[in-house]
Amino acid sequence: MPTDAALNLRTDLFLDGAFVPSASGKRFPTVNPATGETLAEVAEAGPEDLDRAVAAARRAFSAGPWAEMKPRQRGKILMRAAERLQSRAEELGRVETLDNGKPIFESAKIDMPAAAECLSYFGESADKLYGETHMGRPDAMLLTLREPIGVVGAITPWNFPLLQAMWKIAPALALGNAVILKPASVTPLTALLFAELLAEAGLPPGAFQVLPGPGAVLGQAMAEHPGIDKISFTGETETGKSILRAAAGTVKRVSMELGGKSPNVVFADADLEAAARGAINAIFYGKGELCSAGSRLLVEASVHDALMEKVVARAQRMAPADPLDPKTRLGSLVSEKQRDVVARYVESGQREGAKLVAGGKRASVAGKGAFFEATVFDRVTPEMTIARDEIFGPVLSTLTFRDEADAVAVGNSTIYGLAAAVWSTDVKKALRTARALQAGTVWINTYNLYDPALPFGGYKQSGFGRERGRYALEEYTQVKSIWVDLT
Ligand code: NDP
Repeated sequence: MPTDAALNLRTDLFLDGAFVPSASGKRFPTVNPATGETLAEVAEAGPEDLDRAVAAARRAFSAGPWAEMKPRQRGKILMRAAERLQSRAEELGRVETLDNGKPIFESAKIDMPAAAECLSYFGESADKLYGETHMGRPDAMLLTLREPIGVVGAITPWNFPLLQAMWKIAPALALGNAVILKPASVTPLTALLFAELLAEAGLPPGAFQVLPGPGAVLGQAMAEHPGIDKISFTGETETGKSILRAAAGTVKRVSMELGGKSPNVVFADADLEAAARGAINAIFYGKGELCSAGSRLLVEASVHDALMEKVVARAQRMAPADPLDPKTRLGSLVSEKQRDVVARYVESGQREGAKLVAGGKRASVAGKGAFFEATVFDRVTPEMTIARDEIFGPVLSTLTFRDEADAVAVGNSTIYGLAAAVWSTDVKKALRTARALQAGTVWINTYNLYDPALPFGGYKQSGFGRERGRYALEEYTQVKSIWVDLT
C-alpha cells in the first residue's frame, strides 16, 4: 500500500504505449528504505513480456510514426517532455526519495532538474548530427551517414534511478532508436512515471518501454535477445562482465558504465577549507552510493592533520535524517541489504588496522530505516580492502602520500578508473596530475559536477563507452559508408 495517499504511482509494465500487467501476473514489492514500508507492488516482466516489447520496439523502429519522424520533431517531443519533467520535479523527486532513500534536496533540486536538462540537451541535438564527404577521389564521391542502431536495451542501477536512465534514453531516442528500459528492481517507480510523461509529450507507442524485473533473469534475457541491437548498461563491474558474456552470442553492441574507487587528491598547497568541503561532498553526496564517489581521500603528509581535523568535524555534523526533510543531506541507504554490505566493509577496515575517526555505525530515524552514519577512516593503506573495493556507501578511506609521483601511483592502484579529483593552487601540478591519473573524469578544485555536454565514462574496469556530450550521440548511431561512382 502506498504510504502517501497523494502519490500517483504507475505500477504496471509500460509496453507498446500502454500500462499493462505482466503476462504471468507476477508482482514484486518496492520498499521505502527510510521506513521499511512497502510503497507499491510492481508488475514483474518475464520472457513473454520481453518478446512483446521487442516486437513493438522493432515495429516502432522500422515503420510508422517514430521511424518516419523528422529528427527535429523527435527533438521537440523530448524538449516538451523535459519541460514537463522540470515542472513536475518536486513530485517525481518525492517518488525517487521514497523509493531510494536519498534526500529530497538531491532528488527534487538536483537529480530531476539534471534529468530534464539532459533531455532538452539531447532534444536540441536531434537534428545536429552530420555525416562526412570525402574529397579524395575524382572518380567517386565518398559519403558517410550516421544512422540509429535499432532497438536499445538500457539496464540501469538504483542509485540515480531516473537520471542514470536519462543519460541513455535521451541520446538514444534523439537519434531515432527504440528503447526498452529495465530499471533496478529496488527503484522502478520514476521510470514508469517518466514513460507516462513521454507518451503525453507525443512519443509514439513502442519507441520507449519500461520492463521492471529481476536482473539475473530479465536483464540476462535482454543481453541475449536477438531482437535487441545494443545494451547500454550501468551497474557493478561483475554484472557488466556477465552481460558482456551474454551479449557475445549475438555480437551486440554494448556500453558499460561500471564501478569506481575514485581518488580525491589533496596537495599541501590546496585551499584546505575548500578541499575539506569537497571531500565531504565527494563521499557523502548520494549517501556515497555514487559510482563517482571520492571514496579514497589522498592527502599530502604535511597537511594530513590540518585537513583531517576539518574533514572529521564536517563528517560529525552530517547526521542521517528524514529524507523528506528539505534540510537533510544524508538520507537512508537504498536497502537493508546494502546497509549490511557497508557494515561488513566497516568491520573489515577495523580488522585490517585502519583508524575509525568518524561514524561507523548503523543508524535509524524515528526508530526505522537503513541509515548509516557518515564514516571516515584514517591511516588506510593501499592494500586494505576498504582502499580497493567499491563500498557504495558513506565510508571515506583516507591515505597519505609523499609527493606528486606517489599520489599518482596510489591514485592509480585500483582496478577502477571512473573519476578522480586534484586540489592544488599550482596549476601546472594540478594539470600534470590530472593527466597522469587513469580516470574518465578528473575534477580540479571541485568534485561531482556534471554537465550534459561533458562526456562521462570509465577507464580500466570502470567500463567503456561514454555517456553525454557528442560522444553519447556516437554511442547510439552506426556509420554507413556510401560510394558514388562518378565516371
Ligand atoms: P547491479 O549491477 O547489481 O545492477 C544494475 C542493473 O543490472 C539492475 O537493473 C540489475 O537488476 C541488473 N542486473 C543484475 N544482474 C544482472 C544480470 N546478470 N544480467 C543483466 N542485468 C543484471 O548494480 P547496482 O544496482 O547495485 O548499482 C550499483 C553499481 O552501479 C555500483 O557498482 C556503481 O558503481 C555502479 N554505477 C556506475 C555508474 C557509472 O556511470 N559508471 C553510475 C552509477 C552506478 P536488479 O535490480 O533486478 O538486480
